[in-house]
This record gives sequence, C-alpha cells and structure tokens, in this order.
Amino acid sequence: MTQTITVIRGDGIGPEIMEATLHVLEALQVGLAYEFADAGLAALEKTGELLPAATMDSIRRNRVALKSPLTTPVGGGFSSINVELRKRFDLYANVRPAKSFPNTRSRFPSGVDLITVRENTEGAYSAEGQELSADGDTATSITKTTRRGSERIVRYAFDLARRTGRKQVTVVHKANILKSTSGLFLKVAREVAAQYPDIACNELIVDNCCMQLVMRPEQFDIIVTTNLFGDIISDLCAGLVGGLGLAPGANIGTDAAIFEAVHGTAPDIAGQGKANPCALLLGAAQMLDHLGMPDKATRLRAAIVATLEAKDSLTPDLGGSGNTMAFARAIAGRL
Ligand code: ATP
Repeated sequence: MTQTITVIRGDGIGPEIMEATLHVLEALQVGLAYEFADAGLAALEKTGELLPAATMDSIRRNRVALKSPLTTPVGGGFSSINVELRKRFDLYANVRPAKSFPNTRSRFPSGVDLITVRENTEGAYSAEGQELSADGDTATSITKTTRRGSERIVRYAFDLARRTGRKQVTVVHKANILKSTSGLFLKVAREVAAQYPDIACNELIVDNCCMQLVMRPEQFDIIVTTNLFGDIISDLCAGLVGGLGLAPGANIGTDAAIFEAVHGTAPDIAGQGKANPCALLLGAAQMLDHLGMPDKATRLRAAIVATLEAKDSLTPDLGGSGNTMAFARAIAGRL
C-alpha cells in the first residue's frame, strides 16, 4: 500500500525549499503519496485559521508530515505554531543530527557526526506558572520535570543508538545546581542506561558540554538532554557544522512525527530562489529512515555530499552562485 504523508509548504522560503525537496524525492523514487495541507500565514490567508482542523486531521491520519518553516503572526492566538503542533501531538522527542559536510564554510568540515535528542514537552518550556508581579518587577515560572517525561526521552536516545549502531549516549544535565529538576532527569537517565549495557553512557554538566562541543565535537555520538539545554545545544551543534542551511530536525511522538528544517522562513531572501534546500532535504532523509527506507535515506545524503563536494550549483549561503532549484536538480542528478 502506498504510504501517504502530509506536506506543509509553509511560509517565506518554505514553498521554494519544499518544491526543491519534492523534486529530489521524485528522482529518488520514494513512492510516497502527498496530501498537501496548510498552516501558518498561508493557512490564515486561505481559511482564517493558523492551524486548520483539516491540517490536524491530515497529520493525525497520515502520522507523518514533512513541514517547511511557518510564520506565526503576533496576535494570532499562538506563541508559536511549531510549539503548538508539538503540544497537540505530544511530539516528545526533538531529534537533530549535526554532521560535517564538505565546502560549507564550517569550523569542522570533517569529524562531526552527532545527534542531539532533546526533550520537547516539559522543563523550562512547559509554560506553566508564568507570572509577573503586579509591579512588573518579579517574574516567575515553573520548570517541571517528570519521571515519565525523562524516562521516555532517555529511552528514545538509547533505542536510537541501538537502531543506528551508535555506541555512546551522553546525558547532559545541571544536577549539581538544579538538584530537583535536573537531578530527577539524571537519576532516571541512570536507571534507563543500566538497561542498555551494550551502549556506553557518560554524563556531562551542560556548561562543560558546551565547551567540549566547541573544542572536541568529534567525541560525541548521541546527546540526550532536557528542553532548554537541548534547544541551545542543538543550535550550537548546527553552528559547528555549517549553520542553519544544513540543519534538519524531527519532532517525534508515539502517534505522529513531523520532519522539518530547523531554520525559519528567512523573509529576507524569500521569493528570490536563493534558499538552500539542504536542511529540508536532510529532514526528508530523517523521514525516510523513520518510514523504514534507510537505503533511500543513505542515497539521498550521499547525493547531497557529492553535490557539495563538486561545488555544483551551490546556493549563495554556501558561497555559490546557484539557485534553489538548480541545486536540487544537481542533487537529483546524482541519485
Ligand atoms: P523566522 O522569523 O521565520 O525565524 P528569521 O529570518 O528570523 O525567520 P531564519 O529564517 O532562521 O530566521 O533566518 C536567519 C538567517 O539565516 C537569515 O538571514 C536567513 O536568510 C538565513 N537562512 C535561513 N535559512 C536559510 C536557507 N535555507 N538558505 C539560506 N539562508 C537561510
């Protein structure tokens, strides 16, 4: 039976990088059917809603979505549509690979191949108890960590290690200071790690982790951490290997998974054909792994690497003079 996925073209450079990505997937003969759905500004203009029920239904039905960046207008009722999607589908695992690629003006053009697994639903971002005192001088919020939330994300990281033949999981925390919240996360992580004797587990305090990442990123394999630390660390990792144009991400839950580029809508270059489609393409590769097509995912990544190596039709952010579709055609031609 043909697998159908939900495709959200998005805002800003979204439609351009999605067109490029679908072109490459066509050449890869992935055999997927697409159900197009709207969210963000595009949806607001068509339906008057930022996240229409039809889009939610489509994701619920297909369980897998490929999504371009979205604009969340101020006053639209959500602080962020992406956060809203994560909440509604309980997409608890944010999975962000960072890998060295050639010719990307990166600090580490080789040697880095790590994945950050970030808890996506609780911690400092649970938005609970946000209060500002009447005089506006004192702000408080609740950082909630649960055994359930910690256990499922750490288990996800260890299962990912097993599934992908990776050897080491680093648990990143700040339990020496945040004794209750980070302390619980670390305690649960140790319990889970004990059930995976075949995978090495080490622990690192978040500040030391940041220093180590900048000095010797090649020592990392999988990093698992809480929401706030994961948000910061995964951007740091994207910076190590060439920036946002090459950073994909997956948001994975039990019932649905959404694959995307990490960057935003880049309104400064929208409509100009300058956008680098690699981040969304690499998100599509994660999706193919998730859909049980690892061979296709590997071929796609190899074609991207070969195109970068040949400096064929690279977009301006990579120092080239190509455009989005020319770059996509160059990648498709190597499949
Ligand atoms: P948003 O408000 O949607 O987050 P933004 O412009 O604040 O948009 P990004 O979209 O992440 O944030 O862009 C940050 C910078 O990186 C911009 O200068 C943008 O042009 C550039 N950029 C982002 N994505 C790409 C891409 N795929 N290709 C080339 N440049 C990109």
